[in-house]
Amino acid sequence: MEWRQLHVSSANTVLLAYRGLKQLPRNILSDNVTNLDASHNLLEAVPHWIDRLTRLEHVNLSNNKLMMLPSEFGMLDHITVLKLTNNQLSDLSLPKELAAMVMLRELYLAGNEFQSIPPQIFELRQLRTLQMGKNKITEIPRDIVKLKKLNLLYLGGNQLTEVPAELGQLSWLQSLSLSDNSITRLPQQLKQLTRLQSLSLHNNQLQLLPKEIIELTSLTELSLRGNPLVVRFVRKMSNNVPTLLELSGRCIKKCSLHYNRSIIPASLVYYLNHARTCDNPLCAGVYFTSRVQCVKFVDFCGKYRVPLLQYLCSDTCSEGCDHELTSSSDDENRMVKKVLLG
Ligand SMILES: [Zn+2]
Repeated sequence: MEWRQLHVSSANTVLLAYRGLKQLPRNILSDNVTNLDASHNLLEAVPHWIDRLTRLEHVNLSNNKLMMLPSEFGMLDHITVLKLTNNQLSDLSLPKELAAMVMLRELYLAGNEFQSIPPQIFELRQLRTLQMGKNKITEIPRDIVKLKKLNLLYLGGNQLTEVPAELGQLSWLQSLSLSDNSITRLPQQLKQLTRLQSLSLHNNQLQLLPKEIIELTSLTELSLRGNPLVVRFVRKMSNNVPTLLELSGRCIKKCSLHYNRSIIPASLVYYLNHARTCDNPLCAGVYFTSRVQCVKFVDFCGKYRVPLLQYLCSDTCSEGCDHELTSSSDDENRMVKKVLLG
């Protein structure tokens, strides 16, 4: 009894942090315990009798040496917050019974050894926060879309190279961190994240941002430092000489000449129907495959000017763009730094 008084700070909270424990003591067993904090110890395993703490709601086992969670964890279906940061958990460490923790709203798994996001996590449909930073995750599975209620998704410090378009369907997302990965491009579907307030993209391999990103009207924080686009933001131009087919196609579209399958082959009708409009609003031109790439700075939330990719129909078309860049370059550099470092 004396021992318990030492460790149970209130009727339902057990505090065992920083005690050098190698295992959880059995005498914490009680019908009332709702909060358990055994963080910063030397725990290598969670005992099977953990399922007798049936009222547990908040569990913090961060900063231990855990390599595995027992299947009994799935019985603890009152848990809303589970913290397992900085352990040695890997892809097979979580029991499949985790999927039964239907009340779980916050799951913290940063600083472990995960190479993928275990599939049972996608069954936790009440999840609001998923923190899996500083692991070795190489991919965001499309199943991420099942976590419809996510507010915060932190995957910074992993080995991601791509972001699935499905991420754009997480319509409640307010904070998304993908920093410190090797991501080369973002899907334009991210524009659907209308509640997104914070987007961390620093230290990746982004060459350019999709122009749809300016549609994220709730965004107040954007970090872009440490991406190649920072170095290249001034201007990247590449131009392929258009083919005769392309040049004639452009003329037909620009002059709105009538065509159909009774006049020209079906393949040419298909080609002509897939003309893309030049991004320069002052130009009425079109292109098919040959285009000029150019970076344009766009006002963003009235705070920043963000470098975005523009596809233009010709070199001459890009001169206007060039002029726009150099006319106030000091000012623009200053503004861009703000968003890149911010
Ligand atoms: Zn043009």
